[in-house]
Amino acid sequence: MKKKTKSQIFKFDNTYVSLPKNFYQKINPVPVKKPTLIKLNHELLNFLDLDENSLKSNLGISILSGNKVPSNTTPLAMVYAGHQFGNFVKQLGDGRAVLLGEIIAKNGQRYDIQLKGSGQTSFSRQGDGRSPLGPVIREYIISEAMHYLGIPTTRSLSIISTGEFVKRERIEPGGILARVSSSHIRIGTFEFFSAKKDLVSVKKLSDYSIKRHFAEIWSSKNRYKLFLDKVIECQAKLVAQWMNVGFIHGVMNTDNTCISGQTIDYGPCAFMNKFDPNTVYSFIDTYGRYSYGNQPKIMLWNLSKFAECISFLINQNEEKANKIILNSLSTFPQLFEKFWIKAISEKLGFFLSLKEDRKLIEKFLEIMFKQKIDFTLTFRTLSESIENEKKKIKFFSSFKNKKPITTWYNDWIKRLNKENSSKEKISKKMQNKNPLFIPRNHLVEKAINNAVEKGDFSMTNDLIKVLKKPFEYKENFNLSEPPKPNQDIKNTFCGT
Ligand code: AMP
Ligand code: MG
Repeated sequence: MKKKTKSQIFKFDNTYVSLPKNFYQKINPVPVKKPTLIKLNHELLNFLDLDENSLKSNLGISILSGNKVPSNTTPLAMVYAGHQFGNFVKQLGDGRAVLLGEIIAKNGQRYDIQLKGSGQTSFSRQGDGRSPLGPVIREYIISEAMHYLGIPTTRSLSIISTGEFVKRERIEPGGILARVSSSHIRIGTFEFFSAKKDLVSVKKLSDYSIKRHFAEIWSSKNRYKLFLDKVIECQAKLVAQWMNVGFIHGVMNTDNTCISGQTIDYGPCAFMNKFDPNTVYSFIDTYGRYSYGNQPKIMLWNLSKFAECISFLINQNEEKANKIILNSLSTFPQLFEKFWIKAISEKLGFFLSLKEDRKLIEKFLEIMFKQKIDFTLTFRTLSESIENEKKKIKFFSSFKNKKPITTWYNDWIKRLNKENSSKEKISKKMQNKNPLFIPRNHLVEKAINNAVEKGDFSMTNDLIKVLKKPFEYKENFNLSEPPKPNQDIKNTFCGT
């Protein structure tokens, strides 16, 4: 094995830069005044085969802040377009981020290391290319929480405080996130070339994406149709996973939809407290386009935009291509349903699949909705309710109207009796499907406020710590409770 020299904190192995020049702008991050390392992700750096001490060194901090570019890489800003709230914007791109380079993790997989908040690029439009520290902390907390909930996501390697200020509604300290992603190719990347009718580039991007993400279909004759099917499937699975933890992405534009099926861009996202499909957090989502309950529909819409881009590769005959595409897109609702029903069944302790399950699931959601109770804690206390009488009382305590839930509970117990498993075992298995800790918005906001206003990172650290084991009860942490009415923070902002 090659020994890492000091200048090789990252053993870059870049491929995106080999694509044609119209795919990116080669650009270095813009240096910052006084970088300080606020947070380094020990587990992730280990997974990526990086050395912790080197990353913590002056050189490491210089690289993570963009002040030094290692000689073994060529940073670049990726170009893309995208449908934002349904409207096509033909020119977007990394306006406040650069792809520092790609590395191979211990598992042999390729990952992008991107610096977000790294200064202006030619895609910055009117933006300053920077990010306030608050949204950087937010992305770190929530993306890591998603990872530990078992949901595909970009991850966060480090937080740098820049020692500079950025002007938003107020003057705020600046931050830089090192984001790790299995790639940053978005539906919007395809749309950029497709809108220009640059079919050669669409084909090049498709081939690159297939080789990078779905190598198993590369030698198939109908690889582009299979590519579409793969993207449809991983997105159906992803959105089903979001729904089952109450995650609301908040800005499901096509430029924020990765073809790898990971969650990306933690701007105005939040976790729902009370179960209500109409829940919207994002302040700018006036019409609730990206509400909790709309997410599957919106993902299908986004996928239809992707399908349009690669249609000519699927079949040169437009009519035939349309037929194939429609056929593929029509599988999305069933796929989503399959992933969703399996996961929510398991949340209810149904590990066998029986006909009556759907009715029980729907009834449970209906009661939760009517009684406006907390999504996460209700599933969690239900899981624990079969352990003992005290916990059963705790579960029932959140329902104002006891009658419907008592009837439902009795039917549920009857249904559990059909599982080939003891109640203790079912309870344990359910607890592994129903988190106790999620990054609730009021907690994330409080942690950010403490960090940004007072330089106190203790709550950020506590949150990150409990969210690493979201299914495990911890005595000393009171970070699982939903907000009291005076604590609730109902709006989120992009923070760009
Ligand atoms: P987002 O809302 O984060 O998905 O970003 C949408 C687009 O705006 C992307 O092309 C970003 O690169 C760009 N953008 C967002 N914030 C900034 C900023 N502060 N400076 C420059 N570009 C930005
Ligand atoms: Mg974005």
